[in-house]
Amino acid sequence: MCSLKYQLIRSSRRKTVALQIKAAKLIVRAPQNIELSYIDNFVQSKSLWIKDKVSQQQASAQIAVNNFNNGDLVYIDGLPHKIVVDYGKMSVRCNSAEGFISVYIPAKYQQQSFSKEDISAKVKLLIEEWFNSEVCYYLTLKLPALYEQTSLIATSFKVRKYKSRWGSCNNRGELSFNCLLKMLPPWVVDYVIVHELCHLKYLNHSTKFWQLVENHCPDMHLAKAWMKKNQPAFTWS
Ligand SMILES: [Zn+2]
Repeated sequence: MCSLKYQLIRSSRRKTVALQIKAAKLIVRAPQNIELSYIDNFVQSKSLWIKDKVSQQQASAQIAVNNFNNGDLVYIDGLPHKIVVDYGKMSVRCNSAEGFISVYIPAKYQQQSFSKEDISAKVKLLIEEWFNSEVCYYLTLKLPALYEQTSLIATSFKVRKYKSRWGSCNNRGELSFNCLLKMLPPWVVDYVIVHELCHLKYLNHSTKFWQLVENHCPDMHLAKAWMKKNQPAFTWS
């Protein structure tokens, strides 16, 4: 058995086996009658080359996600939105129906002394600030209902930017959430909130803890699987 996953496309016109890496996935093109075991062995023999190519493409895909220029994409509520940079009073307006987010930066950025990097850094900062206020607003709406549902009540909560976690809970009952949660679909955000609330009862990841999370969030397994699968698309430099 070959340990690498691939999409096999057979063709009667082909004489040889060929490999292609597209969007960080392996495609194998092969003649119609060639045995699967031969193809598996062939793929296995090229595994170093394949892994190298796949990681190169994954790296460049991440860079694409991390740009904040006019026309680049940013995830909002789990959906890609196009960034539209405009000049005027600093503000951010999201148009989910049309799939874009307008970011207004001061008119001085049109001057030649400002580089493309200066502009994208400013756009990124404004989006982060907007994420922060959006997540705060969502929590203000959502937490009271979840307090009632779970009977677990935090002493306070805050939102800030974290590099490597979505949320946390300490032994004083204070919850913290990552402003980048705004990138995820709301039903996944709800799982993260319930997860942190359940730490008010169990400050660990024991079996009892996971049972409590699942009681209050039946989508827990789906949400965890979704995050594991999609996390690479939500990297933020
Ligand atoms: Zn946890």
